[in-house]
Amino acid sequence: MPAEIQIQQLFKKYPNGTHALKGVSLEIHKGQFFTLLGPNGAGKSTLVKIMTTLINKDSGSFLISGINPEQNPSKIQNIIGVASQDNEIDPSETVESLMIFQGRLFGLTRPEANRRANELIEWFQLTTERSKKASALSGGNKRRLHCALALVHRPQILFLDEPTVGMDPVARANFWDVIIALNRKEGVTVFLTTQYLDEAEKHATGMALMVGGEISYSGSIAGFKQMVNPEDELSLDDSYLHYVKTLSNQESLIQ
Ligand code: ADP
Repeated sequence: MPAEIQIQQLFKKYPNGTHALKGVSLEIHKGQFFTLLGPNGAGKSTLVKIMTTLINKDSGSFLISGINPEQNPSKIQNIIGVASQDNEIDPSETVESLMIFQGRLFGLTRPEANRRANELIEWFQLTTERSKKASALSGGNKRRLHCALALVHRPQILFLDEPTVGMDPVARANFWDVIIALNRKEGVTVFLTTQYLDEAEKHATGMALMVGGEISYSGSIAGFKQMVNPEDELSLDDSYLHYVKTLSNQESLIQ
């Protein structure tokens, strides 16, 4: 089965000289719940922005569902959904009108857009927020709105960039119920970046660890834990801490 997301040797250098990606290669399969982990500044957001056509790569190649996103950006916009803190939403519009507008943007009829908005507002428990302006939402509710908006057009691949920041524990559990149902029942591929490793461990089926613009590990979560400590079963959180600390100690020895 061909990979749904295929990334080969991606490089990206920002105009200020920062080499954010130094030859990143990854394969993510259809229906996979994949998580990309790594410390701040590792290059995760840069990779997500390139894949979602927000910024350009310098070299390398990537395909999404066999399509070259740079040659077919509009085709890709219909296949992917992107929920990120950087998503721009009009703060003066209400939750409901933003949802309906998004549906219309993706070609839904007015009744279809209304239906989809109602469905997503219910799924993400935004009912009491539906008539509030986006500017009046709490941080956690804003994140839920970003995710609901990303799903309006029923994308087959969902990019979630630190989606649960600011959500309370109940909102977080509800959020994951929705995403897991989409992943397990409807086969939506999930590409998650998060600093909450307990969430990654609970839900993801595959992972990659990025450090300094390079993929340091990719494979299963169990494989990563086994690699870090073959004797004892550590949590992903502890394994990650151990691994990243060891890497930074090695770097300080080299310098
Ligand atoms: P992460 O998402 O893993 O925290 P980023 O992709 O945001 O990492 O950043 C990777 C590197 O690129 C960092 O050194 C960061 O400072 C740099 N960087 C990110 N965005 C820009 C930008 N717009 N201009 C210059 N440097 C940037």
